[in-house]
Amino acid sequence: MIDNFRHKGLRKQLVAELEEKGIKQQAVLDAIMAVPRHYFLDPVFTKQAYSNMAFQIGAGQTISHPYTVAFQTELLELSKGDKVLEIGTGSGFQTAVLCEIGAKVYSIERQKELFLKTKQLIPKLNYTPKLRYGDGYKGWPSFAPFDKIIITCGAPYIPEDLVNQLKNGGRMVIPLGDGKVQEMILLVKNEAGEISQKSFGKFSFVPMLKETAK
Ligand code: SAH
Repeated sequence: MIDNFRHKGLRKQLVAELEEKGIKQQAVLDAIMAVPRHYFLDPVFTKQAYSNMAFQIGAGQTISHPYTVAFQTELLELSKGDKVLEIGTGSGFQTAVLCEIGAKVYSIERQKELFLKTKQLIPKLNYTPKLRYGDGYKGWPSFAPFDKIIITCGAPYIPEDLVNQLKNGGRMVIPLGDGKVQEMILLVKNEAGEISQKSFGKFSFVPMLKETAK
């Protein structure tokens, strides 16, 4: 795996594009600058790795647009050391961005092929998230509660188990909707445990799949 000046130059352009589109948090922009997105893609896509595009990553799934990754990450308002649950590890790019910002990441993927591929790749980049093959609807009870939860697939509803695994004072970002287009929802649990929701516009994700027989 090579990360050369050309890749870095393209990343710089991508970061400028994200800023233009409204991404403001320096930690998020720095993380996009730091993570070599081309490592997460099939080599046939290397040339386009730093355009704001989604690509096939196998098992019928896609890596999210860099803008979507940046937007969801920004909504989490991460602090170093936050315990973050991610649903939908996929290529691992979003996972790497969260790690780069200093979060302690727990990520679940339900496609075995992708889980195995990403489990091999991530340690090569010196990130140390906990990765698990399983059903995201159930969350990861043994490590709950989490400061932040990010869902990177289109959820037909807000899974109750995930809400229960969010700390008081925590934030969850979830694309909500079962069609091709979802509404980006920020769910906030205040210190008293009360829930409020805000909507942040339309995005398009692959669906959050229902549990299947293993
Ligand atoms: N964060 C990923 C996005 C991948 S697309 C990236 O940047 O590459 C969404 C991922 O969610 C897919 O890999 C898909 O297999 C996974 N997924 C779908 N339903 C799921 C579920 N119920 N539990 C866990 N992962 C799920």
